Amino acid sequence: MNKVKLLTVLLFISVAAVAQQKLLSPKEFLGYELGERFTRHHRVVEYYQHVASVMPNVSLFMYGETYEHRPLIYAAVASPENSKNLEQIRLDNLRRAGMESGTPTTKVALVWLSYNVHGNEASSIEASMQTLYELVDPTNARSQQMLKNAVVILDPCINPDGRDRYANFYNQYGNFPPNPDSDGKEHREPWPGGRANHYFFDLNRDWAWMVQAESQQRIKVYNQWLPHVHVDFHEQGANNPYYFAPAVEPFHEVITPWQREFQVMIGKNHAKYFDAQGWLYFTKEVFDLYYPSYGDTYPTYSGAIGMTYEQGGSGRAGLTITTNEDDPLTLKDRLMHHHTSGMSTVEITAQNATRVVDEFEKYFKESISNPSSAYKTYVIKSDNNADKIKQLASWMDKHNIKYGHASAAKASRGFEYTTQSVQNVNITAEDLVISVYQPKSKFITTLFEPQSKLPDSATYDITAWNLMYSYGFKAYALNERINVGKPYQPKTVDNAAIGTKPYAYIFKYKSLRDVEFLAALLSKKVKVRLAIQSFKVSGETFDAGTLIVPQRNNESVPGFDNLIQTLAKQMDRKIYTTTTGFVEAGKDFGSDYVTYLKAPKVAMLTGDQTYSLSVGEIWHFFEQQLHYPVTQIGTDYFKSVELHKYDVLVVPEGNYRLFDEKTLGDVSSWVSNGGRLIVIASALNSFADQKGFGLKLYTNEDEKKAMEKLESAQKEKEGLLTYEAAERKSISEFMPGAIYKTTLDKSHPLAFGLGDNYYSLRENSLRFGFLEDGWNVGIIKGKAKPIQGFTGFKANRKLDNSLVFGVEDKGQGQVIYFVDNPLFRCFWENGKMVFSNAVFLVGGQ
Ligand SMILES: [Zn+2]
Repeated sequence: MNKVKLLTVLLFISVAAVAQQKLLSPKEFLGYELGERFTRHHRVVEYYQHVASVMPNVSLFMYGETYEHRPLIYAAVASPENSKNLEQIRLDNLRRAGMESGTPTTKVALVWLSYNVHGNEASSIEASMQTLYELVDPTNARSQQMLKNAVVILDPCINPDGRDRYANFYNQYGNFPPNPDSDGKEHREPWPGGRANHYFFDLNRDWAWMVQAESQQRIKVYNQWLPHVHVDFHEQGANNPYYFAPAVEPFHEVITPWQREFQVMIGKNHAKYFDAQGWLYFTKEVFDLYYPSYGDTYPTYSGAIGMTYEQGGSGRAGLTITTNEDDPLTLKDRLMHHHTSGMSTVEITAQNATRVVDEFEKYFKESISNPSSAYKTYVIKSDNNADKIKQLASWMDKHNIKYGHASAAKASRGFEYTTQSVQNVNITAEDLVISVYQPKSKFITTLFEPQSKLPDSATYDITAWNLMYSYGFKAYALNERINVGKPYQPKTVDNAAIGTKPYAYIFKYKSLRDVEFLAALLSKKVKVRLAIQSFKVSGETFDAGTLIVPQRNNESVPGFDNLIQTLAKQMDRKIYTTTTGFVEAGKDFGSDYVTYLKAPKVAMLTGDQTYSLSVGEIWHFFEQQLHYPVTQIGTDYFKSVELHKYDVLVVPEGNYRLFDEKTLGDVSSWVSNGGRLIVIASALNSFADQKGFGLKLYTNEDEKKAMEKLESAQKEKEGLLTYEAAERKSISEFMPGAIYKTTLDKSHPLAFGLGDNYYSLRENSLRFGFLEDGWNVGIIKGKAKPIQGFTGFKANRKLDNSLVFGVEDKGQGQVIYFVDNPLFRCFWENGKMVFSNAVFLVGGQ
């Protein structure tokens, strides 16, 4: 499966560039000294093209493009000898990782330097040009020595769209000469800032999930090389000194002693250079190695020494800024620090190349033959939704994770996710089996293990992300090893015999693919009805949520039958038909229990006061996944928009001043007249306890008293709070992100297609009571306890008996409240499903 192919690459050396023979420094090429300006992305690409055109030991690859069509590139720099064997070196490395067959004949360390994942942390792309130049300069004895033992891959910019958004902003607003006063406009980026990509996604949270095009394309080439060392260059607040490895606890327990040890060696090497210059730095603080979707952890869980380096700076810093210590911090300082740590990384790796390569090989040998994790096999039962299994399979392909079917049926015992208990299991030859005896063993463990050890609860990010809960799979984690015997065979849809003009077409609604299909039908002006209850027709039973597409009402759709059948086949949907609307059980198709789904005209808020990440998630979901139009309305002119033109308004997470009494009144009237308002997480604060809305803040007096008692008991236990313990105390109120089981009202359209269970990824400690006059569709019932991940005891206590999502009927319309953000980073499969239900299913007529 997934044989790594030869790099299909575009070597885009222009003819004009070839004519130039002399290697130019960045200054000679750009016409200014690095650090004097923010170089726009296309000029950086041109510099890389120039270097590749004059230096035969530099290979330049274009690996894709961004949403705004900027090229994604990387350069591989090697010694003249190694550059002739570059492909051999790459393949040998994959052989060491068990990804290719054959015996390696070369032994070279691979260092991968990734720059500017956050666009407004804008110094590192500039540093990359200096580092490229010094590495390739034939007169630089130090770098020529390094290249004997190391190949260096430089990706000058992971996030070109965000980087140019920042550079364009600064180039427009920057003063000349630059003004270091942080109050100046040049230090205040407008919403949404340059940090994220086109769809406002944080690409440094997306390595594992690959929701964004940049991540998908990069992970592909990353896995074609699998470097031994990976650096992700960042910036933090301008007043912070430089941060480099070693990282701080928590380290995920899959991290090996060598990975820890070499982080320290690297850090000590950097310290040598930073000390010599008198530069301040810190290590072993703030930046941990746990959540698997970062630019340091993803490489770490794929055999590399993965690291984050942080320079003081960011979007505030401009070309120069005065720090708290009354010192100027310039772009030139910032880029030189990143340049220094980059070169030092290559140096220490090259000096230890043999050990680095041997340890890399050992990492994969152990992963393949003797993985240390407690769980050896993950089994996903074949009766889970076939779309979801297929979706997970295709995602695993992209990470080079191996899986398949067992060769024969087998009885075993394991932890079952939906019941959270250890059970007997009969594994059939149709179930999907993922064995951890494979190269990506450790990555698999971090994704699927039922509990991850969290050695220190003060982490930088969410503490749970298990994909089994994201999909809601009936699945098992086994201590027993079960090998994959046969390649995965996806279930195929058989649509052989379909009547030419049935009374109605019927489609099951169980997965996001079904939602996409519904969105496609509605976009083509097909009229669709929704079965509110289960029914039986033509001998087949259909669950509540089934979509019915009758001939009646669709007379005006040209080529109706052909359209439905073709679209269903294109999207791999099973077509059911009936010649009658007279059902054998349940409600007939003309009943009130079969509602008409009007194609909604959807609007959402964007801009100032909204959280750009949340806006981006919604925007991306509609545009790239559902392919359904959404109108983005700016908060600055929302009040002048005629809301009645829209059926649905989505209010993303945010901190709103927009919703004053008058605007709330207008929105409330619009809902009463048939509008559907969808409010997400922190945006709920604008509607709670407001006139016209039934959402209530948590006011239960008994619960409050119980909480006070709990707190005083805790205080007694802790005694007087020491300065050092203050961080611990704040952690008790901390909700970094954990998974909770939700009790569902399966009969409500908001829960259709979710199956029996919904697991919510909680990343805030908002607490709202049950809706007194509404539908509490997803709730935490009784005592709240995360099934995976960490929640501080106070934050957790607040979730007892609380709302997760619910619907308030109001006149002709509805308000849908999501206490958790179901689209968080857009990787929670069932979250996307429940959000889709709010958009399309709730409020059918
Ligand atoms: Zn960053």
